[in-house]
Amino acid sequence: MHEYTIPLSRRVPQRLADELSKRMFFVSEAIESFELVEESADGTTAVGAVRIAARAPLDEAAMQHLLDRLVSEEIVPQRSVKAHRIWRSGQSATTHDDTFESMIDQGLAIGSGEGQFGFAEPFLGLISHLDVVFRTAAQRSFGAPERRYPGLIATEVLARSGYLASFPQFLMFAGRLHGELDSYKAFVDQVSRPAPAEHAGAAMSRALAVHSTHAGYTLSPAVCYHVYEQQAGTGLDTDLVSVTARGTCFRHESRYHRSLERLWEFTMREVVFIGSEARVLEARSSFMHEVFAIVEELGLAGHAETASDPFFCRAGAAESIWTQRLMELKYELLLPVAGGRSVAAASFNAHGTSLGEAFSISTPDGEVAHTGCVAFGLERLAYAFVCQHGLDPADWPDPVRRALADTRL
Ligand code: AMP
Ligand code: ZN
Repeated sequence: MHEYTIPLSRRVPQRLADELSKRMFFVSEAIESFELVEESADGTTAVGAVRIAARAPLDEAAMQHLLDRLVSEEIVPQRSVKAHRIWRSGQSATTHDDTFESMIDQGLAIGSGEGQFGFAEPFLGLISHLDVVFRTAAQRSFGAPERRYPGLIATEVLARSGYLASFPQFLMFAGRLHGELDSYKAFVDQVSRPAPAEHAGAAMSRALAVHSTHAGYTLSPAVCYHVYEQQAGTGLDTDLVSVTARGTCFRHESRYHRSLERLWEFTMREVVFIGSEARVLEARSSFMHEVFAIVEELGLAGHAETASDPFFCRAGAAESIWTQRLMELKYELLLPVAGGRSVAAASFNAHGTSLGEAFSISTPDGEVAHTGCVAFGLERLAYAFVCQHGLDPADWPDPVRRALADTRL
């Protein structure tokens, strides 16, 4: 391993250290691991350098240039907005620190790639139960019909929505081979006979670079974009349209994947609202409080506060983060898990008219529609549940045990 300490031209205040950490692996794939180096000067402590480990030798000047750009364009301009805590569960947290390791040992979670897992009972049943609980609440309160959407989404839809420009680091594009007989043959030949000493993965990448093309679709990073696309170009005939759907989502979380907390492939239940500003904001708020009550009934400790998305790599990223926090456009439900950490198990989002405009959706009054969505990460929810209640269903709250017993009949 090659180790470097790269000085930063601008020191990063401690309050932004996390924002820097969250983006480090997206700066360069050469970074195998990193550590922020804090320095005290003039009575303040700030990050003054980054210690980096790389598998191959690095061009230090080039790396410093990349880090300086990241810091000056995306980190330091982030203005300070204190998190607004809007709810705290009355349940107190005790977490089992070895939950993930025990799940692997017991075969409840089966590792199958970076940030990818298979699951077995009773964890599978728990995921389904939590999904049903939140889906049913959305159906009861808003009559939200259930839909099922594909795992692929047209890349053009992600471009139109602004997702592609805001979060390019997460996207996993679908590729396919050039549709010609000669291409298939040449591709198979090339991957069957890698160059001497060439790693099979490297041979595959080299062959794909020559013989494949973008399929026009991307593995969907969220469920709700399908809903806006479906409503595109329409005038709503009511003040509030709501839809709910569960789907598999994909985000390339680079080396940030960790246990069941951060995955490359995960399952999201979304409840989507489209309509007038007042109705969308009211729906988000009332559903959010319904969710908090359910979380408390599930016996879970946690809290909810304002949050922002990891905008990356575009002009105005810092501004978007600030606006989102200041205008309280995103709240997250944070649940304690093993190791003294907390994960965002759900988010409650208001998008203003940005998606209504992008997809030309109007309200019955002829105004541009507002949109909002509530998104649950089902693996995170279930993982937080077992971190807090343990892996043995005998220790789970009665209503959950009863519901699981009923579905097994
Ligand atoms: P977001 O659209 O980023 O607010 O995501 C909605 C919800 O999906 C989050 O609150 C998480 O519960 C879940 N989620 C997002 N990214 C991941 C991930 N990489 N791994 C597991 N769950 C995730
Ligand atoms: Zn959404």
